[in-house]
Amino acid sequence: MYCKKCGSLMNDNAKYCLACGEKIEEDVFDTQTGQIINTYNDDAYTKPENSTTILVCGAMSIIFCILNYVGIPFVHLVGITFGIIGARLANKDKIKFKNYSKTGLALNVIGIFLGVLAFVIGFMYGSGLIS
Ligand SMILES: [Zn+2]
Repeated sequence: MYCKKCGSLMNDNAKYCLACGEKIEEDVFDTQTGQIINTYNDDAYTKPENSTTILVCGAMSIIFCILNYVGIPFVHLVGITFGIIGARLANKDKIKFKNYSKTGLALNVIGIFLGVLAFVIGFMYGSGLIS
């Protein structure tokens, strides 16, 4: 094949043009979505899809778990659910885009932790270990 930039002849499976250094684009088939991904389309490949949703899930997770600490029963179940949804979305972004909202994931992990802690504290109260 010939280089698109400078026109010099090069090896068919070359990654770079030896004459001018131009990157050779290659299309990668994504087996999960069935779509062709252009690896050099930086935006499509590196910009995570669910960052905002992950952040919202993380915030909701923490809020609902804190509501349990101030005395509203069972809301930490909702908090844990939000946390799991957010963490799963972060993992999806990580696989698909090699990038994800780290702040969002941290919020979800904190939310899940607070939720589980609420369970433990609830259990200890219920069994009379603390009062
Ligand atoms: Zn070239």
